[in-house]
Amino acid sequence: MSGDGALEQLRREGRIVIVGASLAGLRAAETLREEGFTGSLTLIGDEPHEPYDRPPLSKQVLLGHASADRTELPRRHGLDADWRLGVAAAGLDMAARRVRLADGDEVEYDRLLIATGVRARPWPHPTEAELDGVFVLRTRDDAARLQRRLAASPRRVLVIGAGFTGSEIASACRERGLPVTVAERGAAPLVGALGGVIGQVAAELQREHGVDLRCGIMVTGLEGDSAGRLRRAHLSDGTTLDADVAVVSLGATRNTEWLAGSGLGAGPRGIACDAGCRAFDVRGIVTDDVFVAGDVARSPHALFGYQFLSLEHWGNAVAQAATAAHNMISSSSERRPHLWVPAFWSSQFGVNIKSVGVPSLGEEVIVTQGSLAEHRFTGVYGYQGRVIAAVSFDQTKWLEFYQRQIESAAPFPPEYSSVDRRPEGLRPVPADFPDPSLPTHGPSVTVSGYSPTDQRITFTPARA
Ligand SMILES: Cc1cc2nc3c(=O)[nH]c(=O)nc-3n(C[C@H](O)[C@H](O)[C@H](O)COP(=O)(O)OP(=O)(O)OC[C@H]3O[C@@H](n4cnc5c(N)ncnc54)[C@H](O)[C@@H]3O)c2cc1C
Repeated sequence: MSGDGALEQLRREGRIVIVGASLAGLRAAETLREEGFTGSLTLIGDEPHEPYDRPPLSKQVLLGHASADRTELPRRHGLDADWRLGVAAAGLDMAARRVRLADGDEVEYDRLLIATGVRARPWPHPTEAELDGVFVLRTRDDAARLQRRLAASPRRVLVIGAGFTGSEIASACRERGLPVTVAERGAAPLVGALGGVIGQVAAELQREHGVDLRCGIMVTGLEGDSAGRLRRAHLSDGTTLDADVAVVSLGATRNTEWLAGSGLGAGPRGIACDAGCRAFDVRGIVTDDVFVAGDVARSPHALFGYQFLSLEHWGNAVAQAATAAHNMISSSSERRPHLWVPAFWSSQFGVNIKSVGVPSLGEEVIVTQGSLAEHRFTGVYGYQGRVIAAVSFDQTKWLEFYQRQIESAAPFPPEYSSVDRRPEGLRPVPADFPDPSLPTHGPSVTVSGYSPTDQRITFTPARA
């Protein structure tokens, strides 16, 4: 049969399996049907729930404004698919094109999409993690449990880690009137994602809203009472803190263990794939029938020197899933690259934070509109003389403009003037990101691999 004939047959009566039935999995399934795939479609998800949305979990749900079980993702239309929910994929046989399930069942495929995302990094001491009062936040069930505990008015909440999720949790707690301590190993909240200059603004916001923010501090241990309830935390400065709730927000771990021994290039940093979402095998050779999308994927981006990016962003999961689905049922000449410009949003302490591009690649930052002191501004990041990213605090109107600047590799610092440009915005300053060679709890973007303009390879030790 000719290549065209085989593709037509695949589109008509092929078997497509998607592992990971969440945002990326659902959007890929919808795209496959929209693009005319009429074969069999199976979605395998280890959570028992229909696909739901995670961003509200740390915002509306923790505030009690929405219930965790009302966060289902809207479906574009009735989806003709076989849903295998509440059962994990436990193994992959690439030669036989077969996924093994935890219940012993096996599902065969002609094309496989892996969209297994990430999970919350647990507290590293298992017995302490078991204490009543210690939480993580990744799933709808996590959110429901934490919400119930917050509603019971704990005496103090300790948030461990001040990345985006930790900061949003602290914000929700303060909005509920709860006493909160945030312990962050870095010099400021959000420092791994946005750098120290913007991190200082985040620190001011937290303190102004009554957070007991402690930076440069690690939590070294959690202590319970005789009934196994959390009572206090031990900190690296030798002090202790009484708290009956601790939320561990130390970043995420990629869900790739089930692929061990499969021959796929999967590991703690995710699953590497080409710009067309085709997974690499362990030899670094691209596969023809296994695709990846969403938080679990690492893919090279032309706009960022072809560096491999792992993006834990909602919009990335949606866009990459659509590209992967399209490419799964297209000939090589019709395939397209995943060229989405990274974009992220967060709301915390009454401020709407948005970014485009990859701030953590920035060497310098300049405030082009507004003012850091007023907590209302746009900051633009530069890398090797070009605009690489922008972030806004309560000032989204400029971001589209900067997205175009990023796409066109516009020179940095920006040369134009604007009415809202203050003296502090006349000169760029070092963006002040933590030294990448020091272990962190996991920034939202990790950069590795080879770029034509920068051949340094930085080894970042993996953390348990
Ligand atoms: C609390 C919270 C707040 C967030 N807020 C924002 C925000 O404000 N802005 C933003 O841009 N992004 C935000 N995000 C990130 C965004 O939700 C993710 O980028 C998005 O969910 C990624 O979708 P995904 O489908 O790739 O992965 P996931 O949503 O992680 O889904 C992967 C699914 O695969 C399942 N799975 C894993 N292993 C297996 C297996 N072996 N077999 C079967 N199933 C498996 C998982 O249980 C999960 O259901 C937030 C995330 C969280 C947790």
